[in-house]
Amino acid sequence: MHPEIKRLIKENHDLGPILKFYGLLLEKQESSRPDDLLPLIDISKNSIKDRLADGNPLIDPSKTVLLDLKNSIDLFFVILELIKDASDQFRHQAEEVRARIEKTDIELAMKAVLSGNEGELKRLTERSALSEEMLFLLAGLSLAPSLRLLSSMVQEDFDIAWWDELFCPICGELPSMANLEEEGRHLYCTFCWMEWKYKGPGCLLCGVDDKKMVGLLRIRDEDRYHLSICGNCNGYIKLIDRRYLLKEADRRIINIVSLPLEIIARQKGHKGPAIFSI
Ligand SMILES: [Zn+2]
Ligand SMILES: [Zn+2]
Repeated sequence: MHPEIKRLIKENHDLGPILKFYGLLLEKQESSRPDDLLPLIDISKNSIKDRLADGNPLIDPSKTVLLDLKNSIDLFFVILELIKDASDQFRHQAEEVRARIEKTDIELAMKAVLSGNEGELKRLTERSALSEEMLFLLAGLSLAPSLRLLSSMVQEDFDIAWWDELFCPICGELPSMANLEEEGRHLYCTFCWMEWKYKGPGCLLCGVDDKKMVGLLRIRDEDRYHLSICGNCNGYIKLIDRRYLLKEADRRIINIVSLPLEIIARQKGHKGPAIFSI
């Protein structure tokens, strides 16, 4: 495990389990074989341009039927084991899910996540002994290696510098991190790890202008990141010094080491991206 995550696990006794879970999860994700998600996008240059110009993310929901998600399903079960080991509270639930959930339902849940089909996800929730947030998280975390491969291919092959929206150009999720620069902030989707530039001001969750960003949460002596709080939607945004975001591997680490601050924000009632509250 990364040395900084290890050190934090020792220091943060209450938050040790969640840090350990995310640290191990990252290792499992990085050693897992991705599935091919390329069938989800039409990679002809014109089609990519047209879809983005219409304000649509590149994943085409109608193409999910073409996917074989075998590796992601395997990872789903690996993550369930991590949850079982992470806390007494979740052990029983993870065991129940393992006993009840069908592989076909997992695949359907992943396809529902990829196509943003909330109705289908809700229907599967009722059959799987999982809350909607848990099923979404489990499916998303299992798909992450495949989504990361897809976003790195798009990033390498296509110029999407003119995309200027508050949602990810690949998967349509809201950004979970941004850098600290005032103008032309870079946003990061921690779902597929796409990076894009956004020229607009203010809150990344509701779009309200900077004047409504009323608060700031930070850890003493930690100048790499802080959270900015929105007075309009009560959400928080994780802002990170760009120098620590240059390498993709570092982004994933800093996204984990900043989790304790996110937990504090959530205990204060602020909203943020879905995370496992182990
Ligand atoms: Zn994304
Ligand atoms: Zn807001």
